Amino acid sequence: MNLAAAEALIATIPDFPEPGVQFKDISPLLADPAALRTVIAEVVAPFEGRFDVVAGIEARGFMLAGAVAIAAGVGMVPIRKAGKLPRPAASVSYDLEYGQATIEMSSDLPRGARVLLVDDILATGGTLLAGQRLLADLGYELAGTAVLMELEALGGRAVVGDVHSLFRI
Ligand code: AMP
Repeated sequence: MNLAAAEALIATIPDFPEPGVQFKDISPLLADPAALRTVIAEVVAPFEGRFDVVAGIEARGFMLAGAVAIAAGVGMVPIRKAGKLPRPAASVSYDLEYGQATIEMSSDLPRGARVLLVDDILATGGTLLAGQRLLADLGYELAGTAVLMELEALGGRAVVGDVHSLFRI
């Protein structure tokens, strides 16, 4: 399956989870084996051989990180919302449209490990920037940042720097 056909499987749900938000639901894409294979291969391609581990941000980043890890022959680590990890080694708080969020990570990787950071959607960039800071705080090297879809109008690329996005809308 080509990338355009995979992108067509992403559903847009108006006014979810609140009025005015066009929610991008990647579930139909994940449910299609050919589409899933295609996007995972495309996420990995620019970074092949250049990362030791993939980190996925809770929760939809987890779905991608496991698949990316198997495809690339590396392991994966979860970046979790506050209070979920039994042994958090670092935490970073960031602003949401309403309120704040905190993410945490354990330090089970050797210092200097090259980490590919993944999530499903890049919107304002706050979530991925927090993930990048977490990796830096723990002494890991950012091998790259990758998402399936980038919502260009929200300007996240200027916040997170170089990001590999498969679909830009
Ligand atoms: P941001 O921190 O603004 O870049 O938002 C990115 C995070 O929020 C990601 O973890 C996405 O899963 C989620 N997100 C933001 N906007 C959307 C959207 N329109 N549809 C689906 N998920 C979104």
